[in-house]
Amino acid sequence: MPAAHAPFLDLPTEEFREILRENRIPGYRAGQVRRWVFARKTFAFDEMTDISKSDRAKLSGLFGNTLFSGKLVTQTGSEDGTQKILLEWPDRHRVESVLLRDDRGHRTGCISTQVGCAMGCRFCASGLDGFVRNLSRGEILEQILRLNALLPDPQRLTHLVIMGTGEPTLNLDALLAALAEATAADGLDIGNRRVTISTVGIPAGIDKMTAADLPYKLAVSLHAADDATRNKIIPQNQHCGIRAVLAAADRYFAQTGRRVTFEYILIAGVNDSGADALRLAKLLDRKTAIVNVIPYNPVPELEWKSPAPRAVESFVRALTQAGIQVKVRFRKGDDINAACGQLRRSYRIS
Ligand code: SAH
Repeated sequence: MPAAHAPFLDLPTEEFREILRENRIPGYRAGQVRRWVFARKTFAFDEMTDISKSDRAKLSGLFGNTLFSGKLVTQTGSEDGTQKILLEWPDRHRVESVLLRDDRGHRTGCISTQVGCAMGCRFCASGLDGFVRNLSRGEILEQILRLNALLPDPQRLTHLVIMGTGEPTLNLDALLAALAEATAADGLDIGNRRVTISTVGIPAGIDKMTAADLPYKLAVSLHAADDATRNKIIPQNQHCGIRAVLAAADRYFAQTGRRVTFEYILIAGVNDSGADALRLAKLLDRKTAIVNVIPYNPVPELEWKSPAPRAVESFVRALTQAGIQVKVRFRKGDDINAACGQLRRSYRIS
């Protein structure tokens, strides 16, 4: 039976309360449902045992039995503890989300914001099939809740990174609405400072984040230190250029006080030379920047290659010697194609 209302996770609590009122269900049920969903990882109304049977039946009638609108297509686990899920929405489009764990006890959800991506970065698998549509607030929240529920109690997600498929600043309203629930004290209560939004670097999009003035961490996918190289691998750069991206990042820092991370994937022979490292150091000179160096994760359909470990080392050394704060991020979940937009493609609808 199709649900009579918008999916539960798409509804702000006030709207949910309104629906309860219309159906003569007491308003305090809203708080009870929230506790089941966020604190108890329970998503089926008929399992919410402190709600009367008749109200449970009414709620199931209104929203369907589960609060989720997606269907779990596959779930894969990696030897390093990374788990990946592929969800299919009622329109049959699919997105992937990843749970990463590390030895510091961080349990991080990596979330998608769009089906496909319009940015068409040449090295990235996510944009190979172009852009399909934005995800809704509920679809973004569902990924977060499902990853959280993969963790055995009492474990919870500690961090979120918006680094799945899609360009978050082009679907910012839905993303921020979902993140508001993920960070709310009566939601998942994940600290604002533990949420990282990664953008390709659209100045107007970054400015929109600045205007929202939330203390989320901003990561900018820089990947090159000169416009000629960046234009080649990130078509979006042709519209704005690196300087405008950096200026927008500076405004974000000035407004929020949060240092911006610049992601830099190292692609063999493209952006990994000593000269590239020096150019990058110069570009970020005097900036309160952190550089996240990530060896490129090869995509089967594409020709780009990861640099040799020695090239990674010397790139990092050059940056460090120039006084730049650098972190190297090694990829996780390689053996389950969790690294970048690869699962959705390997399970395509034919
Ligand atoms: N649209 C956002 C989020 C995309 S994915 C953005 O551009 O930042 C998150 C990061 O993974 C981005 O820095 C992206 O450039 C990077 N990435 C994409 N494909 C990759 C690959 N094959 N190997 C390593 N990093 C990749």
